[in-house]
Amino acid sequence: MSAAVLQYDFRSDTVTRPSPAMRAAMAAAEVGDDVFGDDPTVKRLEQQVAERLGKEAGLYVPSGTQSNLIALMAHCERGDEYIVGQQAHCYRWEAGGAAVLGSIQPQPLANQPDGTLLLADIEANIKPDDPHYARTRLLALENTIGGKILPQTYVEAATALARRHSLSCHLDGARVFNAAVAQGVPVETLARPFDTVSVCLSKGLGAPIGSVLVGPAALIAKGRRLRKMLGGGLRQVGILAAAGLYALEHNVERLADDHANAQALAQGLAKLPGLKVTPPDTNIIFVEVPADIAPAFAEHLAQHGVKVTSAYGATRQRWVTHLDVDRAAVEQALLVASRFFANR
Ligand SMILES: *Cc1c(COP(=O)(O)O)cnc(C)c1O
Repeated sequence: MSAAVLQYDFRSDTVTRPSPAMRAAMAAAEVGDDVFGDDPTVKRLEQQVAERLGKEAGLYVPSGTQSNLIALMAHCERGDEYIVGQQAHCYRWEAGGAAVLGSIQPQPLANQPDGTLLLADIEANIKPDDPHYARTRLLALENTIGGKILPQTYVEAATALARRHSLSCHLDGARVFNAAVAQGVPVETLARPFDTVSVCLSKGLGAPIGSVLVGPAALIAKGRRLRKMLGGGLRQVGILAAAGLYALEHNVERLADDHANAQALAQGLAKLPGLKVTPPDTNIIFVEVPADIAPAFAEHLAQHGVKVTSAYGATRQRWVTHLDVDRAAVEQALLVASRFFANR
């Protein structure tokens, strides 16, 4: 066994494990049957997230995927459509759930390199009221998207355009706290233009599970029924919600450390021959590796305990910083990476 090889896991911020203090908070949680509305810890979490995002109500759900699906199904009826980016998680990475389970048609649009959708594309794809067309009901944006922060002026313009056409607006804010901390703005400001926002607790915030969907009380009540329908009604789940409360209290401001570590990692990788590094806005770094060295470089990293996500024959790598990889881990990973080039 390779017990001696230390592991530095940069694949995703989902790999974080609950700390001893978080586990202690979970063990101490007051619980009840949440399907009966009896779990005080879940209620506290739902209220806290709703308040922080400036919305009326919140709904605790097992995953970000279920949160987005519930939002889409709460906003759209069967035969409606939502406008969304080709790269958006709730279009591309959620197994087509809105179509399969909600009979909701996506209208995907190209994401620009900065993650935005062109306003002209959005406007051109809002269908008139005509029996030939699905009813366009919703604009769904994502912030951060691929680690990039959507410019708030853009968000204001896109949602204003949607409103002029009577569309609702949903934000997949899985990492919206990263966007808020990186810009030094209240998360409420980023949430304000949207009816509903979905936030992940299990990414950089470090909880083992859970997302919260926030929005108007009536829509969240509809969402509560959908959650039950989708199998997401859970019982003494305060034991998990306690991890979310702990994360909100202790792990939001420290996202700045992840962003600083991502900068250091990006700068170090950019110095290595042939690597093309996109400077990160937050905690996600994309690295283009020349095709002739890509498989060997990926193999070298893996052999030395540095885990990254690779795609397209390992020519495109994703490195994500999070609370389980500190500055020392970043420096170690850079050392491992640089040795690959030193030995050639
Ligand atoms: C991770 C993620 C989700 C889904 O969350 P899961 O808990 O993995 O289902 C949704 N949207 C974005 C942008 C994400 O990064």
